[in-house]
Amino acid sequence: MQALVAHQLNQYSVEDVSIDKPQVGEVLVRMKAVGVCHSDLSIINGTIPHPFPTVVGHEGAGIVEQIGEGVHNVHPGDHVLLSFIPQCGHCYFCEHKSPNFCLAANQSEPGKMLDGTTRLSINGRPVSSLFMLGNMAEFAVVPSISLTAIDTNVPFEIAALVGCGVTTGIGAALKTAPVRAGDRVAIFGCGGVGLSVIQGARIAGAKEIFAVDLSQDKLELAESFGATESFGSEVNAVKEIMARTDGIGVDKSFEVVGHPDLVQQALSATRRGGTLTLVGIGRIDHTISLNALMMPVSGKIIKGCLYGDADFKTDFPYYLDLYRRNQLELERLITKTYHIDEAVQAIADLEQGKNARGVIVFE
Ligand SMILES: [Zn+2]
Ligand SMILES: [Zn+2]
Repeated sequence: MQALVAHQLNQYSVEDVSIDKPQVGEVLVRMKAVGVCHSDLSIINGTIPHPFPTVVGHEGAGIVEQIGEGVHNVHPGDHVLLSFIPQCGHCYFCEHKSPNFCLAANQSEPGKMLDGTTRLSINGRPVSSLFMLGNMAEFAVVPSISLTAIDTNVPFEIAALVGCGVTTGIGAALKTAPVRAGDRVAIFGCGGVGLSVIQGARIAGAKEIFAVDLSQDKLELAESFGATESFGSEVNAVKEIMARTDGIGVDKSFEVVGHPDLVQQALSATRRGGTLTLVGIGRIDHTISLNALMMPVSGKIIKGCLYGDADFKTDFPYYLDLYRRNQLELERLITKTYHIDEAVQAIADLEQGKNARGVIVFE
C-alpha cells in the first residue's frame, strides 16, 4: 500500500509499505480521509522528537476492513473515526474523567503498537506508525481503543477533521477554558485549530471574539467563522485588545501557535483573574517565563490543553452532531484536498501556511 513515510529529519516520501493483519485487540481500517495537521510536520522536522522511519498521519477516518481477536466495539463495514490518544478505560486518568491523558499510549515506545512491535515494514525492515495510527496510508492497523464508530451519513473528510484539530480547538473553548456566555475572548493563531477555538467561543455565546494572526487570509476566515474583530501584524494586537476592553483585558485568551512571545502577548491581553489556555505545542527547548510578583497579584490562570480535554467516545459524536445541526461549520475549514500521491505537496503547503486544513482523500 501507499503511505507517507518520514525516513529521517525533513526527509519524507510516498512509497510502498507492507502491512500485517490486525493482532489481538487491533483493527484494520481502510482509510478514506486524513487531515494534514501541524503535528505531522512537527514530527517530520523534529519539533516533536520521534523515532524514524515512521508513517505519519493522525487525523483520520475510514471503514473497518477486518478486526483482530477480542475486538467488540466495531465490526467490518463500520465507519470509524480515529483518536490519536487511546482510551483504555481503566487507568488512573480514564477513571478520573481525564481520558485525554490515558496511560495506555505510554506503555510502549513511541511509534510502536501496544505490544511493543509494529505492523508496518519496508523490505522486512520495521516501520513505526505515528501515535499507533499512521493514517497517511491506504490502510492502518490501530488499537481498538483508539477508535469509535460514527454515523455513516457523515462525509469522511468532515469526520477526519474532528479526529484532531477540531476536537482540540472546540474542546479548548467549551471544556478547558471554558468560555461562558458573555465572555470577551482573544485567539492568538488562526489556523485550523484556532478557527475551531473561534467556533467554540461563538457556540458558547462569547460577546466579543478577537482574532490575531500574521496572515490576512486567516483573519478573513477568522471573521467568517465568528471573530468579531481581527488584528494582523501591522498593529500591536495587545494594545488594540486592551483599548477595546476599557484597559481590562479579555476573560479568556488562547494561544494556538506554541511560540513563547505569543504566549506572553496572550497573557498580557488576559484580564486579572482571567484564563489563558495554551493550545499550541511549542518546541521542547523553549520556555515561557512568568513574573513572580504579577502572577499571584493578577490572579491569572494558565491552563494547558491537550486534545481539547477530549473524551473522544462522547465528544466525537457530539461535535459531529453540532455539525449536522449546522452549529459547527466544517466544510469551509477544508481549503484543499489531495490524493495520497500528493502527500509530500500537502506537507509542503502546510509548512507554508497555505491551508486552513488540507485533507488527503482516498478513493
Ligand atoms: Zn493533529
Ligand atoms: Zn486509560
